[in-house]
Amino acid sequence: MEPKPQRRLVVGNWKMHGLRRDLSELAGIGEAAAACPAVDVGIALPATLILPAADAAPALWIGAQDVHSRPSGAFTGEVSATMIRDAGGRFTLIGHSERRAAGQESNTTIKAKAEAARQEGLSAIVCVGEDAATRADGQAERAVSAQLLDSLPEGAAPSWLVIAYEPIWAIGTGRTPSTDEIADIHAALRRACVERLGDPSLTVRLLYGGSVSAANASEILRLPNVDGVLVGGASLRASGFTPIIRLAQNAAHLGPNNAQKDSAP
Ligand code: PEP
Repeated sequence: MEPKPQRRLVVGNWKMHGLRRDLSELAGIGEAAAACPAVDVGIALPATLILPAADAAPALWIGAQDVHSRPSGAFTGEVSATMIRDAGGRFTLIGHSERRAAGQESNTTIKAKAEAARQEGLSAIVCVGEDAATRADGQAERAVSAQLLDSLPEGAAPSWLVIAYEPIWAIGTGRTPSTDEIADIHAALRRACVERLGDPSLTVRLLYGGSVSAANASEILRLPNVDGVLVGGASLRASGFTPIIRLAQNAAHLGPNNAQKDSAP
């Protein structure tokens, strides 16, 4: 399944969770995806699960959580875009804050990883987000826009690129920005995309991530320039994830261009 620009996109991030037996969750998630035709549903899995998941759930967009910038070589423990593709993966997260922090990944590294994904035909979900101190200083918009501009390869196509805004302080904490704060950052990200990639990037999908659950997804998915959500903890079980997919389907009735019209510069 290849996602199409201008449809809602709901992506789960299983992080370092999941054994083969947990793939049984994909059946329920796949059923919800099939019942929600206006929504694309993806899962970013541990590398060990990409191959069995791609076989078990062809209706889902299966991907990885990170990628190396080189196609092969002496990089012990790393996984390349070629390998992800070979295992049946169709996309990869890039620059998740847990990797930016743990691996000390710079924007330059993230840009190289995005380029590697593109060359292999994998879509890229490039993650950006500010820490709590930057938010408190009133610098979130500036910092996140700069992060994005420094992480994007030149000439990225809208169908290949997805951007996820994930404030670091909201990930796994149960805290979220206000809806106005999310809308402001997403409008800034849209402007940054257009500045870098031109008008076609009006259709690049912008996801919000950070403590998304069935309780808050509906209002977030209705905000201008929010084309979907990236979900960590609540994506691990079908019981937590499928209500979010259904809420995205309901939000899709607002119309695919609703957000982009509101914010077009
Ligand atoms: C994430 O890690 O990408 C994430 C959004 O996590 P959570 O939903 O658990 O905050």
